[in-house]
Amino acid sequence: MTRETNADQVVIAGAGLAGLAAAATAARAGARVLILDEKSPGGRARTDEMDGFRFNRGPHAVYVGGAGRRVLNRLGVRPATHLPPLRGARVLVGGGLYPPLSRRVLGARAAAQLTAAFTRISRTGRADSPRISTRGWLASLDLTPRAAAMLEFIVRVTSYVADMDAMPADLAIGQLRMAWRGVGYLDQGWQALVDGLQARATEAGAQLRAHTPVAGISGEPGAWRVRTLAGEEIPATAVVVATGTPTGTRRLLPADPGWDGLGPEVTAACLDLGVRHIRTRLTFGIDEPLYLSPHAPGGKLAPAGMGMVHVMRYGATSAGVDRARLETFAAAAGIAAGDVATSRFLPKMTVATALPAVGMGLAGRPSVAVEEAPGLFVAGDWAGPTGWLSDASLASGEQAGLLAARAVQPVVRASLTAA
Ligand SMILES: Cc1cc2nc3c(=O)[nH]c(=O)nc-3n(C[C@H](O)[C@H](O)[C@H](O)COP(=O)(O)OP(=O)(O)OC[C@H]3O[C@@H](n4cnc5c(N)ncnc54)[C@H](O)[C@@H]3O)c2cc1C
Repeated sequence: MTRETNADQVVIAGAGLAGLAAAATAARAGARVLILDEKSPGGRARTDEMDGFRFNRGPHAVYVGGAGRRVLNRLGVRPATHLPPLRGARVLVGGGLYPPLSRRVLGARAAAQLTAAFTRISRTGRADSPRISTRGWLASLDLTPRAAAMLEFIVRVTSYVADMDAMPADLAIGQLRMAWRGVGYLDQGWQALVDGLQARATEAGAQLRAHTPVAGISGEPGAWRVRTLAGEEIPATAVVVATGTPTGTRRLLPADPGWDGLGPEVTAACLDLGVRHIRTRLTFGIDEPLYLSPHAPGGKLAPAGMGMVHVMRYGATSAGVDRARLETFAAAAGIAAGDVATSRFLPKMTVATALPAVGMGLAGRPSVAVEEAPGLFVAGDWAGPTGWLSDASLASGEQAGLLAARAVQPVVRASLTAA
């Protein structure tokens, strides 16, 4: 049977991980799905090929125990991963590089305190954790300065957040617990997630239109209209807005949803390096929020005999200062200027679009179903109560896809009965 209108369809604005997860989920649940993206699919999860190297947009790792991994499994997207090179890892403390567990870094008392703190974190929750800052929670553990600095560094690495005053403690604790299960680097880069989700969506019948920016949504429940920048009006029973940011989403919705409690964006300055050797070791800053990790060798991210290294400062400051600091950090970690085959600097990447405010926690983020607008849904790293970073994008995307598919079912049933 051919339907005469597209009114029973789900339109999805944005084909990043959130939009693609929504599209694959809704299409597999039987909905007719159209995805629109202002660029090509992938958003911040794209991988760029340069001179034989595959660069993610800054360092990306999949959380093995994360909500996103479970969504990917349910959709049948299981790309190959390799482990970060933990053996030989070093930390930069007071200008020197040392193994993280060396006496110079930790000492017996700090090591014992950290072990006790981790045991507590793994066993007990804190009911007040959304209401206090990570700084307040760290202070409540009563650690020596060195043990506190080490725990703060681990929180930073597992959450990508450097501002302990702005981050609610539930986020930090949740990320620490989840990171127990480890992380994986994707052998082909994060593009494998984009390609896998897009394949699942199109196999189930979803249509994708790239280079089609959405300019707004109007209409009423049951009869929404999605307006493109080119002036086309596309009818839809359900719409998922997954355009990346809460600010951009708010602009597209027909009425202000009145969200509050969304904090600042979380940023990073990133230096991606293609290196002519494979000697680089994982190196983290303790006194400074610095990260350096060889994502290749391992996987297919660099030509044979070469390495691909992501260097990052948690929290971008100014482009010139950050770039100079990342270059000297790479040099200290053993990468001389002459070793670099190709590179790119990304001065200010948005790692997460909105840190939930202290007092609100993850559970206080805007819900996926837009209040008082049946059939309108949102998805992204700032939406829904579950997960952080891509885990939140994928979890909210899946939920939005399921709800959108459910919203179109009565319309599909009615059109089948009429036919
Ligand atoms: C440096 C860095 C490191 C990271 N590391 C990790 C990590 O280790 N682990 C992890 O889990 N996550 C990590 N992340 C986060 C992860 O990349 C993001 O959470 C995820 O990719 C966001 O997906 P999204 O679909 O929510 O948003 P986006 O990727 O921003 O996608 C939004 C999409 O909407 C499109 N769009 C925008 N406006 C419109 C419009 N008006 N009309 C149509 N389309 C529109 C855009 O083109 C884009 O394709 C990292 C991010 C960065 C920047």
